[in-house]
Amino acid sequence: MTAQLIDGKAFAADVRAQVAQHVKTLKDAHGITPGLAVVLVGEDPASQVYVRSKGKQTVEVGMNSFEHKLEADTSETDLLALIDQLNSDPAVHGILVQLPLPGHLNEDLVINAIDPAKDVDGFHISNVGLLGTGQKSMVPCTPLGCLMMLRAHHGSLSGMDAVVIGRSNIVGKPMAQLLLGDSCTVTIAHSRTKDLADVVRRADIVVAAVGRPQMVPGDWVKPGATVIDVGINRIEKPEGGTRLVGDVDFDSCAEVAGAITPVPGGVGPMTIACLLANTLTACCRANGLEEPQGLTA
Ligand code: NDP
Repeated sequence: MTAQLIDGKAFAADVRAQVAQHVKTLKDAHGITPGLAVVLVGEDPASQVYVRSKGKQTVEVGMNSFEHKLEADTSETDLLALIDQLNSDPAVHGILVQLPLPGHLNEDLVINAIDPAKDVDGFHISNVGLLGTGQKSMVPCTPLGCLMMLRAHHGSLSGMDAVVIGRSNIVGKPMAQLLLGDSCTVTIAHSRTKDLADVVRRADIVVAAVGRPQMVPGDWVKPGATVIDVGINRIEKPEGGTRLVGDVDFDSCAEVAGAITPVPGGVGPMTIACLLANTLTACCRANGLEEPQGLTA
């Protein structure tokens, strides 16, 4: 392997330590404790794991964690009533509704019911619009984590050619907006893109957010490029059992790239760390206090 490994676990630990330090200062100087409310509807096993992990890390950085576990058949009216209550609760600075929601609930309606100032996932239409117009917003956690690692690795991203593979609302599109905000020349690729290999080969920065295991081979990558792998895919191992892989073929890409994130241990840990950072930012904004430097876009 010739590429430098971008260690998301270490970055995430650093972000959490910075958040914990700011939380301590907020408590000591202002008597304020940031609070994050996480709402889980139903019993999807993966969602339960995420919610547990979020709650644990929230408490570890000194914040208050409020978990609301609702039955799978909870009505939209009841869910919206809970969100209304959390919107007006001054102890709650961030609200996260764990997705996906059960099919009978309208995700757009639910997400847009969250107070945009408490929308720490950055999915509310107001935050999407603010990000798109280059204004102060709550930024989706996964792209924010990718941006932080890219900035830490490169310093300035200005003038770099970036390709984002994937155009989802939660990863691809906000990632492209953030890179544009940092003055990259951005291409968004998707399932209809022609000659994807050629498009990727032009890029100094490749962000893969596709959901297809090991789709990007090393010979698509420009020598020295930085590869950020957002994908999380579980595949069968030849010897039995399963393992997690990303959307890029790590071994061949690592021979060509200048730097690369692993899966697991790359973007994943940064996502929850950025959720904590967003909750801290929301708390500072709600109280008219200066926002922490380096923890927002
Ligand atoms: P989506 O399924 O919402 O979007 C996938 C995107 O990939 C779509 O825009 C799709 O294009 C594009 N795509 C699909 N096939 C191809 C192809 N053959 N060539 C080019 N583009 C293609 O996924 P998400 O954005 O939600 O997630 C992407 C990956 O990131 C997943 O593996 C997910 O598990 C992971 N993830 C990881 C997180 C983390 O914390 N590390 C957080 C969130 C997601 P089109 O629009 O044309 O269909």
